[in-house]
Amino acid sequence: MNTLGAVALALALTGAPTSVAAAEDELSVLSDAMDFAMHDATFTMYHEIGHMLVSELGLPVLGKEEDAVDALATIWLLTDDSDPDSYNALIDAADGWYFNAVASTGAGVDDFSYYSDHSLDIQRAYAMVCMMVGKDAEVFGETADIYEIDADRQEACAYTYQQASAAWDSLLAPYTESDEYGAPIEIIYEDAGDYAEFAEEFMARGIMEHAAELVMENYALPQPVTFRATQCGEANAFFDPNESEVIYCYELAEYMFTMSVYDIAGWGDTAE
Ligand SMILES: [Zn+2]
Repeated sequence: MNTLGAVALALALTGAPTSVAAAEDELSVLSDAMDFAMHDATFTMYHEIGHMLVSELGLPVLGKEEDAVDALATIWLLTDDSDPDSYNALIDAADGWYFNAVASTGAGVDDFSYYSDHSLDIQRAYAMVCMMVGKDAEVFGETADIYEIDADRQEACAYTYQQASAAWDSLLAPYTESDEYGAPIEIIYEDAGDYAEFAEEFMARGIMEHAAELVMENYALPQPVTFRATQCGEANAFFDPNESEVIYCYELAEYMFTMSVYDIAGWGDTAE
């Protein structure tokens, strides 16, 4: 049974919904969860494309590559005027890291010392929100407040954003000056099996197509690259340098969908 069906059945068995309003609430939880999964997929694609550019273009990276490509993905989404949903994608992707961290530690989140010493996921969430409020304090001030990033730090985030943006601009400049397209990006959707509903949504939103367009318009790739959506046997996404492939696993969409339904909307005790 697919996930939506399973959730609907679970609800039927527990006696809900008891009213039309409750049924509408459920539908909105499910559609929010699909948005959440797809927003995470968007961010994830850009993150993996960051790894792809580092590898294919032979870019030097100072510091952790994971942090560097998170920054690049965030900058792209903050500056993508052609995607009206890109700001929502950022908020949901940051929340995804946040709730992942909460779920993995099993601990409550009730102080604000996470800048220094907590898990990678929580640091990724805060680093993203810092970049977001650094780029656009008006739009993301509320998000930064929810994350309890204080006013001084929010202001300092403007510099963090500018520094990251300038660094990536200068690194990528040699590949953006050409008027000609580089090598093409091929997009492949593999059979999705039990994940068909996620694959269909992923395809309908044109997430890989839009990302490929952004890359091809802006950077001249030295050799062809493939973006492949497929079943991997795990909730993951990665860049395969041997095949020059960015791979998005359908399982990841289901994982994020489930996180939204259970850990964020609060259905049940756990995301099992
Ligand atoms: Zn990575």
